[in-house]
Amino acid sequence: MATPELCVTVTAPTMADLRRQRDAVADADLVELRLDKVRDPNVAGALEGRTRPVVITCRAAWEGGGFTGSEEERRRILSEALESGAEYVDIEWRARFDDLVSRGGRRVVLSSHNFNGMTRDLAGQLRAMRGATTGIAKVAVTPQRLADCTPLLALGAEASRDSRIIVIGMGDYGLATRLLAGRFGSAWTYAGGLRDIGQVTASSLLNEYRLRAISDTTAIYGIVGGSVMHSVSPSMHNAAFAAAGIDAVYLPLPAVDADDFVAFGRAIGISGASVTIPHKVSLFERVDEVDAIARRIGAINTIRVVDGRWVARNTDANGFLHPLRDRVDLEGRRAAILGAGGAARAVAVALASGGCAVRVHARQRPQAEEVAALVGGSAGPWPPEPDSWDLLVNCTPIGMYPNVDDTPLPAERLTGRVVYDLVYNPPSTRLLREAAARGCRTIGGLDMLVGQAHEQFTWWTGAVPTAGVMRQAADRRLTEFTRNEDYVV
Ligand code: NAP
Repeated sequence: MATPELCVTVTAPTMADLRRQRDAVADADLVELRLDKVRDPNVAGALEGRTRPVVITCRAAWEGGGFTGSEEERRRILSEALESGAEYVDIEWRARFDDLVSRGGRRVVLSSHNFNGMTRDLAGQLRAMRGATTGIAKVAVTPQRLADCTPLLALGAEASRDSRIIVIGMGDYGLATRLLAGRFGSAWTYAGGLRDIGQVTASSLLNEYRLRAISDTTAIYGIVGGSVMHSVSPSMHNAAFAAAGIDAVYLPLPAVDADDFVAFGRAIGISGASVTIPHKVSLFERVDEVDAIARRIGAINTIRVVDGRWVARNTDANGFLHPLRDRVDLEGRRAAILGAGGAARAVAVALASGGCAVRVHARQRPQAEEVAALVGGSAGPWPPEPDSWDLLVNCTPIGMYPNVDDTPLPAERLTGRVVYDLVYNPPSTRLLREAAARGCRTIGGLDMLVGQAHEQFTWWTGAVPTAGVMRQAADRRLTEFTRNEDYVV
């Protein structure tokens, strides 16, 4: 597998802005200049003074671009780009500008985009496109599920010998095609600010996912779940891999269901995965082996592939205990758990293993009873009465961004000694602030998040993450999200 190059896409409303942005690109092999998004497109201005090879693109509106002038005008722009020596010129396959394609030779990027889904007989289409140009044939489709990337892998394998293709899956389900572009046989991967089609920034590709270091021996890990595009986990694990010098990468893998992930994971040769909502139970049923703690909790959160066998664990219980160790004596304490979902199950098992008397409080009493029964505990009222607990654990999403002013328990009911909130965005919730003000010891959800990630990393690699690296990466990511008013899961 050849290492794919990095092409940074630049868009702007005016030529002056476009040139400024072109010149501000810090680390790229190529810069794509999108003339179709500029009010006053000008080929000479785009090319003059460039310090890197460029791809000139003037995408037609009928192909998802921003150019609203005539086809004749567009043809003139593309033709001028070829004549003026642009390193590459993107020409839509469906434009049938055959004369430009043959004139441009190896400098042509013959492109095709499907924004609505997967193209039937994409292999046949790619073959036809490769037959029509000596340049690069680029196909971009829109996967509707993670496993839609699997046929794209096969396309790449078939056509990648000369690295004259680019295969892109647009949108969230196609992210792997951008981050692992070499596995898909692509000559380069595009980065930039076109988030609506799933582009990621160059700095994220280079610094977080370490694009330049990914080769065909790089082990692939990821977080699989329903909504994982804003997860903190890739930042933590990639930072830990980098710090330990381990040849591995970790990516968000949104999957519609367990089968979707299994199909993709097997095709790409995944080495392991973190598992989150809503696949913790369905994947439990699909793996080859599950350890005793995960079996008791009834859900998995980690998969490791050993000699083709998918082995699973749940590191949430140990991750939860991580910040309590050496700080809080659990033996004989009265623990109140708020909520009765997946996290509450792991927390109940952890607290019972530490010797606590567990009481579960949920707005739906039958669910509280079910979780309590896992560990021989009891169900209590919602919300818990004052003076009924020593340690309170919030396992509901109450207080999570954007509802940061919410709290599961009024301040006057915070009568115990320790309050532990699993919510980690924001790191300091209203519950924790009010508990601290009332003299309770407080622990935030980031501690558990980092704790369970540590366990995963060690299980996968046999190495202990460099001290502080995961925590710092998580803090950085959360700060970044807060700045962008984005959300984190
Ligand atoms: P889950 O399976 O959806 O369970 C959520 C529980 O909270 C359910 O019992 C739900 O009750 C209850 N709940 C939700 N909104 C409520 C409200 N307004 N009032 C009362 N109860 C409410 O979710 P989960 O996986 O257990 O996760 C729970 C929280 O823990 C999330 O915020 C998650 O981000 C966090 N978490 C953190 C970590 C970490 O590492 N720090 C790990 C796992 C989870 P109903 O069934 O009645 O809706």
